[in-house]
Amino acid sequence: MSADADAPITQDVVTIPRALPEGPINLVGLTRAQLREVLVASGTPERQANMRVGQIWQWIYHWGVRDFDAMTNLAKSYRTQLAENFVIELPRVVSRQVSADGTRKYLVRIAGGHEVETVYIPEEGRGTLCISSQVGCTLTCSFCHTGTQKLVRNLTAAEIVGQVMVARDDLGEWPVPGRPKDETRLLSNIVLMGMGEPLYNFDNVRDAMKVVMDGEGIALSRRRITLSTSGVVPQIARAAEEIGCMLAVSFHATTNEVRDRLVPINRRWNIEELLDALRAYPRLSNSERITFEYVMLDGVNDSDEDARRLIRLIAGIPAKINLIPFNEWPGAPYRRSPEKRIRAFADIIYKAGYASPIRTPRGEDIMAACGQLKSATERARKSRREIEAEAGVTGLTSR
Ligand code: SAH
Ligand code: SF4
Repeated sequence: MSADADAPITQDVVTIPRALPEGPINLVGLTRAQLREVLVASGTPERQANMRVGQIWQWIYHWGVRDFDAMTNLAKSYRTQLAENFVIELPRVVSRQVSADGTRKYLVRIAGGHEVETVYIPEEGRGTLCISSQVGCTLTCSFCHTGTQKLVRNLTAAEIVGQVMVARDDLGEWPVPGRPKDETRLLSNIVLMGMGEPLYNFDNVRDAMKVVMDGEGIALSRRRITLSTSGVVPQIARAAEEIGCMLAVSFHATTNEVRDRLVPINRRWNIEELLDALRAYPRLSNSERITFEYVMLDGVNDSDEDARRLIRLIAGIPAKINLIPFNEWPGAPYRRSPEKRIRAFADIIYKAGYASPIRTPRGEDIMAACGQLKSATERARKSRREIEAEAGVTGLTSR
């Protein structure tokens, strides 16, 4: 690992303004309060503002309407006024791949020509959308493809909500007036497990989740949203209080020595500090269990001793342990643990009383599985030697 442990980890994130300084403002991703503010600023009378927010909100997030002219409960002149000042715009889907197992991967283009990936995973009677929160990631977990991408910027709330809307468009899941509501949702769950560290883009992630959870729109309950963090300890309590969604943590190791290498943020906030923050989470967020994600890396973190240590560490925390077979990517410095090893590890955890599902890799054939996301068009790339140096291994290149 070449990074200095004291260096600010968020350094290279470029913050861009919510709306472009010129031209119409995109209404997507604004909270209700922000929507009210921009409407008033553009001439909507104060006394009508709350009602207008409610109406426009429903059109955008309940009906999926993009054209102000279709907002038929608004006066024609008001619709024209809206169209002059605002747009309802989603990121553009530049490619859509469908895996043999039905997983869909969308490559979406956002302002500045950057691209991020969003993955839809269909399941029996439900479906999960894995969304990105940053272009790339400032953290450099040595087993993660996204961590090898150099260029990083935070996504705006519009770009985060936009990924959900893009998927609903593709799934044809906006209600149709007059047609009875279908209670089974194709997109029933969201996981913030795509590219980026959501807690390093806190405000935009929070605002976007508030929009998605709002009962008069997309209306996904907070229990159906899971935010995954590598362990940004000071933001965990805030996530509980201000978002209140389910929490997953990329734990991945049972000693600080190994976790320092796999999840370098551990040098900033170690296992003990992380566990303290996690212990407080369920009470603060009024949620049940925390998901501990654990990537299975051959010979690195997958011994019986690791499994037993893991149980000792998390004692007292309501938890589910999600074992993730390592998904390989070109140049990855690790191998996936053998299936037998993963099962033996899962068995120890299960016998200690924890649910220990082994995550089935989905969409591997289209590089859509956990940790494989990385915009193919993003040319700035770390060298293989840099990746190996960060992983603390050498010589794999010649294998
Ligand atoms: N930055 C956040 C969320 C994105 S990563 C975080 O780290 O939690 C989502 C999950 O995929 C994390 O648990 C991550 O550790 C895991 N992951 C990353 N690369 C992987 C790979 N190559 N194989 C399997 N899981 C991986
Ligand atoms: Fe970033 Fe998460 Fe990948 Fe680590 S695992 S590099 S925090 S996206």
